[in-house]
Amino acid sequence: MGNDIDSILNKAVKYHNLDEKEILCILEEKKESKRLFSVADEIRKKYLGDGIHLRAIIEFSNYCKQNCLYCGLRKGNKYLTRYRIEPQEIIESARKAKNYGYKTVVLQSGEDSYYSVDKMTKIISTIKDLDIAVTLSIGEKTFEEYKAYRDAGTDRYLLKIETTNEILYNKLDPKMSLTNRMQCLENIKKLGYETGSGIIVGLPGQTLKSIAKDIMYLKSIPIDMAGIGPFIYNPSTPIESTKENFFELSLKVMAIIRLLMPDINIAATTAMETVNSRGRLIALQSGANVVMPNTTEVIYRKHYKIYPGKICINDSPSHCRSCIENKIKSINRYISMGKGSHIKQKRGIK
Ligand code: SF4
Repeated sequence: MGNDIDSILNKAVKYHNLDEKEILCILEEKKESKRLFSVADEIRKKYLGDGIHLRAIIEFSNYCKQNCLYCGLRKGNKYLTRYRIEPQEIIESARKAKNYGYKTVVLQSGEDSYYSVDKMTKIISTIKDLDIAVTLSIGEKTFEEYKAYRDAGTDRYLLKIETTNEILYNKLDPKMSLTNRMQCLENIKKLGYETGSGIIVGLPGQTLKSIAKDIMYLKSIPIDMAGIGPFIYNPSTPIESTKENFFELSLKVMAIIRLLMPDINIAATTAMETVNSRGRLIALQSGANVVMPNTTEVIYRKHYKIYPGKICINDSPSHCRSCIENKIKSINRYISMGKGSHIKQKRGIK
C-alpha cells in the first residue's frame, strides 16, 4: 500500500473518521489489503476483546411478497419450494437454541404477511420469557408494527440497506423505495432497537464510489450491527450472471466499517464463507466479532435459498454449534457468554 493509504489508515485508527474520498481511496487500492485487515483486527481487539458472539438464526419462512432481482426468495422465483414454520415450532427452535448455549436468536424470513402482528408479538414475548435476546430480520414494516415488536421485547432489528444508490436500488428492488427503506431504519433506531444494516457488495451496476457512500450512510445512522455480504449470482433470478468473486472487496468494506465504528458488532457472514471456504475465520481476523450459525432444522434450511451453494444446508443445528466452536478455538478466540449487545447499550437490554 502506498503512503496515501498508510496516512488514511493512520487517520482512521486515530479518529475513526474518514471522508468519502478517503474511503474510496482504500477501496480502489488494488494491491494487498493486509495492513487494512490487520489494523481492523487490532481495533476489534482493543474495543471488544477476543470474545465472539454467536447468534442462532431461525429461518422461519421463505415466502416473500417482494421481487428483488438478486434474491432467490423473490416472489417471482417459481423454482423454490416454499415453507412456513408455525409459531409453536419457531418457539421450540428458540428453546433448542437456548439449550445449545445461544444467548440470542435471530428470527429471519422474507416479507411474509402470514405472520400477523398478533402472531409475531406472541412468538416474541414467549421467546423473551426464555431470557434470551431476540433479533428480527423480517423486512420493511410500518412504524406501528415496529413499535409492537419492540414493545413485545425485541432487542434488535436487522434491515440491510443493500445499496444507497437510488438508480441501482430502483432497478434491483422493483416497486420498493430507497426513501421508505431509509425511513424504516430511522424508525427502528428511534424505537430504541439495536439497529443492524449492511450492503451487498458486487451488485451488477454498483460502483466503488457508491459503496463509499453506503459506508458513510451506515455511519450516519449510526448502526449498532453490520452485516456485509458478497453478491452471489443466483441462476433462478433474472439478474445478469457473473462468476466474479467479491470476497476480498466485501472484506475490505467490512474492515473499513470496523475502523469507522470501532465498538459495533460486525458479523462474519455466511455468504462470505460460501465464496471462500475459510471466509468466516478470515473475517473474524479482519474486524468481525459475531457469527450467526444456522439453527433452522435440516428439512427447511435447504429451501432458504437466497443464493446457491450456501454452506451447511445438510447440517443439523447441533452439528453447526460444535463446528463453529471448534473453528473459533482454532484461531485462539472464545465464545462470549453474554447476550452480546452493542456495548454502548449494554444496560438497556431486557
Ligand atoms: S431481498 Fe428480502 S425483500 Fe427482497 S426478495 Fe429477498 S427476502 Fe424478499
